[in-house]
Amino acid sequence: TQSGSTQGELEGIRGAGTWKSERVIASRQGPHLRLAGGGILNFCANNYLGLSSHPEVIRAGVWTLEQFGAGLSSVRFICGTQSIHKDLEEKISRFHQREDAILYASCFDANAGIFEALLTPEDAVLSDELNHASIIDGIRLCKANKYRYRHMDMQDLEAKLQDAQKHRLRLVATDGAFSMDGDIAPLKEICRLAEKYEALVFIDECHATGFLGPNGRGTDELLGVMDKVTIVNSTLGKALGGAAGGYTTGPKPLIDLLRQRSRPYLFSNSLPPAVVGCASKALDLLMESNAIAQSMAAKTQRFRSKMTAAGFTISGQDHPICPVMLGDARLAAVMADDMLSRGIYVIGFSYPVVPKGKARIRVQISAVHSDEDIDRCVEAFTEVGRKHGALP
Ligand code: PLP
Repeated sequence: TQSGSTQGELEGIRGAGTWKSERVIASRQGPHLRLAGGGILNFCANNYLGLSSHPEVIRAGVWTLEQFGAGLSSVRFICGTQSIHKDLEEKISRFHQREDAILYASCFDANAGIFEALLTPEDAVLSDELNHASIIDGIRLCKANKYRYRHMDMQDLEAKLQDAQKHRLRLVATDGAFSMDGDIAPLKEICRLAEKYEALVFIDECHATGFLGPNGRGTDELLGVMDKVTIVNSTLGKALGGAAGGYTTGPKPLIDLLRQRSRPYLFSNSLPPAVVGCASKALDLLMESNAIAQSMAAKTQRFRSKMTAAGFTISGQDHPICPVMLGDARLAAVMADDMLSRGIYVIGFSYPVVPKGKARIRVQISAVHSDEDIDRCVEAFTEVGRKHGALP
């Protein structure tokens, strides 16, 4: 029966050790959380800049809620576009130094809508094998010819670009920063190849917008290729206030086309005013000063260097995603549990989220962690690592 097979599938997920449960938080998002059992230090949110509970962001959300209502009960093109939506789109384009932008309910939607709207069966899309699930799903929905290149492997990308010369248009799609490893796509090299083989470049900046690069514009700013990357998709649900929402920013004709063709835009409700207000304020704060981003970078540096000195291997490149590499899945799970019992909230990742034998605990640093918070986390890791044999 259906319910028998569902039971079987659920048991399979449990048996594989990949069951995901929800921990219930009784407070705002932030470095210090309240759970039912008491307070803990949080090291697993995408709240890189601490703006999810920033007082000015909250005030802006409340003000916008009162002025513009709870929601639009409509998609954008029927009666769901307010001045605040247009203003936020303008602000996003300005932030990224692009011509135009289009909002979505999430970056998942932005990724789900873009490939089908832009690419035809005569075109080709070349995608990094470790791209986010939403890019993979978006590509599945389009009818273009699909190439998957090995993770950040430029030789493989070049070979596939050569093969794809037979198609009308080529689009290279990559995460700017990869969320499991904290590694950064070699965009200089990708853009060079894209020029050579007349391809467009698309980047997903969910784990970069607001804090990578001298002014927090993202991976393209960090690597000096803002004028070479054609399309940027990103989220409002991580560093930019953490509420929800996503967007595409790029050349105006392309954004115009998305407004005509992109299904998650055409067939899904417009972004709620409070969410728009929060994101808009987050962008204001970041455009005023990069002090918040710098503070996060300093804390990331503190964590990475102290953990490395303690004997741990932290993968990735100076990114606030700091994967503590452990190898063994059970070790990662047991250590994460033991960290929680010491009041530090971190999560272990194992297969199939990361390759077999590459289990890890992914720590994420935020601008609102204090130096003491970071040091407490390192101390707990050191104790727990010794106890379980991850450190000598
Ligand atoms: N792309 C990447 C790389 C992500 O990490 C995420 C979020 O997990 C998304 C897209 C989806 O973003 P959103 O939460 O706005 O749907």
